Amino acid sequence: MPPPDPADVSACATCGRPWADVDGGRGWVHLEVTRSDEADGLHFVDADFCSQGHAAQWLARPLPDPAPPAPYATTWRDHLAVAWVVLLLLLVAALTGLGVWTAGRFLLDAF
Ligand SMILES: [Zn+2]
Repeated sequence: MPPPDPADVSACATCGRPWADVDGGRGWVHLEVTRSDEADGLHFVDADFCSQGHAAQWLARPLPDPAPPAPYATTWRDHLAVAWVVLLLLLVAALTGLGVWTAGRFLLDAF
């Protein structure tokens, strides 16, 4: 059997069996291993297994190097979301100012 591709999360990391081959995916085990590196912080390794036995075999071996985090590219949707949040904050500030001004006028007229 060919060695499993670690990037393919739909296959058992030990035997390479596809996810759908084993009882529709029931009984599969997902592991997330967290390692701490003082220089870079936390690293996560995720793997899926067709059985707990294969998960134990995988854990008994040296862990693979964690994949470096993918660089995040800002999209126009991110800019749109930021603009929307800024608009909402401005609206909240304007309505708060209007409420304070109205309350002040009410209190001045009452006395
Ligand atoms: Zn397996």
